Amino acid sequence: MRNFTFYNPTRIHFGEGQIAKLARDVPAGSRVLVTHGGGSIFQNGVWQQVEEALVGHQVTRFGGIEANPQFDTLVKATDLARAEQCDFIVAVGGGSVIDGSKFIAAAARHDGDPMELLSGKRITAALPLGCVLTLAATGSESNPHGVVTHVARQEKLSFSSALLYPRFAILDPRTTFSLPPRQIGNGVVDAFVHTIEQYLTYPADAPLQDRYAEGLLLTLIEEGPKALANPEDYAVRANLMWCATQALNGLLGCGVPQDWSTHMIGHELTAIYHIDHAQTLAVVLPALLAERRVAKRDKLLQYATRVWGLKEGDEEHRIDAAIQATRDFFKRMGVPTRLREHGLDADVIPQVLAQLARHGMTALGERRDLDLEASERILLRAL
Ligand code: NAP
Ligand code: FE
Repeated sequence: MRNFTFYNPTRIHFGEGQIAKLARDVPAGSRVLVTHGGGSIFQNGVWQQVEEALVGHQVTRFGGIEANPQFDTLVKATDLARAEQCDFIVAVGGGSVIDGSKFIAAAARHDGDPMELLSGKRITAALPLGCVLTLAATGSESNPHGVVTHVARQEKLSFSSALLYPRFAILDPRTTFSLPPRQIGNGVVDAFVHTIEQYLTYPADAPLQDRYAEGLLLTLIEEGPKALANPEDYAVRANLMWCATQALNGLLGCGVPQDWSTHMIGHELTAIYHIDHAQTLAVVLPALLAERRVAKRDKLLQYATRVWGLKEGDEEHRIDAAIQATRDFFKRMGVPTRLREHGLDADVIPQVLAQLARHGMTALGERRDLDLEASERILLRAL
């Protein structure tokens, strides 16, 4: 077990009817910027609940934050927040709206070029932010991270600051009943891969963290397909929502090595080819596990036994079977696992590698030994 500091100040209100808590958690007298995406909140009753709970507050609404939120859109929202002198942000949506709102929160309190916030400059101030989550996937509702897309530069850029933890997150599983199957699958895969990236590395004398990760993985495997089969099963949605939050609220990664290379390679695939975030992960992860089977051997065997119940056959066979089971699970969630299923073949690989190089992603993995040649082999396996 390694040393760690754990900090997570986000207050979680979980369950049916909890959107009403906005009335309590948004400070009285606030000038609130409410942000949202393309319109799902008007069709599933979420907006109505938000509007009712915010009666008495001065509300400015900014809609149209895209999936993979775009820098230019967020700059417009920042201008609006400034013009309306907003002092609190309520993000209503999935990871894109929440990440985008974190950027707006920081940009509204930043005097220089907002692009600096995506270029590694330390964030020193931010508007307070709360969120109403409508898509269980990213964990953004209670973490300090965000990812913003710069379309012209074909880049997905990450930022992070303890100032960006949402003050509160409202998780009403009912809000997720209206998700289309594609987003149900994406959400389960994203949470699954977040868990894997903090688990499937090398043994680190952290049995509690291992059991915690395995509990999340097993729950996602058991409940995910049920959400596709029966979208209005409250208990299923509730368990998935709570899994996704815990997969990336910081607790799971305490004291253990981490390997975010699937996300890093996946981000480039979204930036260049506009593939959904989770769909890039479903393509990269099985290929990465196959490529890294020696470095990850002990944990792959543990994963095979404890998560997939694979106890028969020799070790090589169990590792193969665990990777295949992972791929099959993604397929069961309706998420493709091959680049070719996205219309991409080997000619795209040089461009992905060039982007990885441009972003300094040349020493990835839990031991920082996943270089560009290894990324190339992973992408070849992902075809
Ligand atoms: P998303 O991009 O926020 O949303 C995807 C789609 O789902 C949107 O079209 C949205 O439509 C729709 N949607 C959301 N809630 C809905 C509902 N209840 N009913 C019907 N449709 C609904 O998806 P996401 O997977 O949550 O977020 C992906 C983004 O998060 C990516 O940019 C990714 O890089 C980032 N990410 C962040 C973190 C982090 O730690 N911060 C981690 C992983 C990924 P509307 O626009 O109409 O609402
Ligand atoms: Fe993710």
